[in-house]
Amino acid sequence: MTTSTPERSLCESFPRLAANGGGLDVGELERLRARARRFAEEHVRPRALEIDRRTDEDPSWFDWDLVRAGVEHGMLGFMIPKPAGGGGARCTQSSVVMEELCAACPGIALIFGAHALGFSPLLLGGPSQWDGVLADLIASERTGEPLLMACAITEPEAGTDVEDPDLLTRARITSHARRVPGGFRLNGAKRFISNGSVARWITLLMPTDPRRPLETWTCFLLDTRSEGFAVARVEHKMGQRACPAAELTFNEVFVPDEQVVSREGDGAGATMIVLASSRPPVGAIATGIARGAYERLLGWLEEDRAARGMLERQHVQLALAHMEEDIHLARQAYMDAATELEHTALGAVMSNPGARALEHVPASIRRRAHVRGWLTSDRARDATIALLHRGTSDRAMTRSLALSSLAKARGGDVAMRVTGAALELVGLRAGPVRAELEKLWRDAKLTQIYEGTNQLNRLEVYRGLCRSETISCLPPVGRS
Ligand SMILES: Cc1cc2nc3c(=O)[nH]c(=O)nc-3n(C[C@H](O)[C@H](O)[C@H](O)COP(=O)(O)OP(=O)(O)OC[C@H]3O[C@@H](n4cnc5c(N)ncnc54)[C@H](O)[C@@H]3O)c2cc1C
Repeated sequence: MTTSTPERSLCESFPRLAANGGGLDVGELERLRARARRFAEEHVRPRALEIDRRTDEDPSWFDWDLVRAGVEHGMLGFMIPKPAGGGGARCTQSSVVMEELCAACPGIALIFGAHALGFSPLLLGGPSQWDGVLADLIASERTGEPLLMACAITEPEAGTDVEDPDLLTRARITSHARRVPGGFRLNGAKRFISNGSVARWITLLMPTDPRRPLETWTCFLLDTRSEGFAVARVEHKMGQRACPAAELTFNEVFVPDEQVVSREGDGAGATMIVLASSRPPVGAIATGIARGAYERLLGWLEEDRAARGMLERQHVQLALAHMEEDIHLARQAYMDAATELEHTALGAVMSNPGARALEHVPASIRRRAHVRGWLTSDRARDATIALLHRGTSDRAMTRSLALSSLAKARGGDVAMRVTGAALELVGLRAGPVRAELEKLWRDAKLTQIYEGTNQLNRLEVYRGLCRSETISCLPPVGRS
């Protein structure tokens, strides 16, 4: 780990300045937001309380109809790269969509968010991944029977410790991927995996040598129909219940070499890049929860007879102004983090002329045996990694990760504060709105826990912004 003197350019202090230079398409963002809002109003909010009740009675109950409706509104594959048939959206777009969905129901939104988290490690593989599972996911949407993904990092004895390279070395990891001819045999368990009981494919991280977890932490792509895989149980959750969190067990599950994502031992860095990309949307989830509570409260204060006169009171006006401030600043934080990630770090890779040129090669040509053979070869993997190094750096990624952590931690605290304050103001008077607020308060708590607890995220802020340290995220060049 190295430290450098903090020296911030204007674009570093205001990441959106860099984004404007990079040509963020605001019109497109508005259209996507309108689409998400329509889906949220027509399908998500009307179902939210009912699904919360049903999943309280039976945590493994799952609303596939809602997922199908989400497909019709383009809420599932919009993050998958265009060459694989998806919408090609990036972090700003997915964050904006998450805020909209979460203002309606964070649990339902999490189904879509956990799906995107599931396939996000594959995006690091670049063109080699376009014609595999990513294309299958889009094809499944067209059949009306969408397939979902999940991402499994957490273990029964290790949560925080497997989300940071410094802690990984002393984590109590019990899972293990053992090398065998043609692939690996996976053993162990993963816990609290969102979508874990409903996913067809799971990206998961395990060490190939438990004595050296940092050096051998590896990302695998697992077909959940594999022999030896089982869903041990589904958690009874406090909030965000619509999305099941499952404990998964692996008993000599075979994963072939082709399903090692990136390269053996690159998993710790890949996890950091994935978390840098997934924390701004979690900041947006939290912002959406806070906004949902604020809007319900305001609607109740304006329209309900039980609230008559409350808007005239100064303490209520101050509370509302405080909520507006909190939500506004939480939104700025996640937009800054998302735009930084797109235009300074990973976005620089995606906009590389070489990578863009490949996007125009028709899938029919890419899928020819010799082209596919090259795209999935070690040389092509090395070329993708070299591109990553040309487009970004460990320092840029560490800074991006820290901004993402800042947005996530601040968002989570704001969600708890605003939902709690809204509940206090309505008291026992508010009827159905109270039930929605109470649910949002339960939903909010999770945003302080998953994608790294707020404590861990604030340590990332200390490391990446207060101390300007650099952690090693990018895989080394030319190891294949
Ligand atoms: C509903 C739900 C859904 C989830 N979905 C997923 C998923 O899809 N995939 C996945 O992989 N994981 C998932 N998680 C797991 C989540 O990421 C972990 O719960 C989280 O990382 C915390 O780990 P832990 O629960 O083991 O807590 P612990 O790591 O045991 O932490 C306990 C407390 O100690 C603090 N702490 C621990 N270490 C440190 C440290 N070094 N410095 C300072 N404080 C520290 C923590 O901040 C926390 O307050 C989910 C969790 C929940 C509850």
